Amino acid sequence: MNCPKCGGEFKVRKSARAGCTDSRKYLAEKAAPTVKWYVGLDYMVRQRKCLSCEYSQETVEVLLKDCREMIIEIANKGIPKDF
Ligand SMILES: [Zn+2]
Repeated sequence: MNCPKCGGEFKVRKSARAGCTDSRKYLAEKAAPTVKWYVGLDYMVRQRKCLSCEYSQETVEVLLKDCREMIIEIANKGIPKDF
């Protein structure tokens, strides 16, 4: 991925599986409000950091099929509670 600030290489520094109970639980929980309502614990969160400017941000990984279905569900029913 490209850094959203400078376009540099946006490398994965840490990964956390949803539902993990180790020291990376905090990272997995960051995406829970956004995706858990639809995919349950079937997602991964990545902490990324730019090699050029050191900007840091998280990305979430869900199945493409689920991502598409989430968008359709929100379009049809609106944003879920707890989002
Ligand atoms: Zn950058």
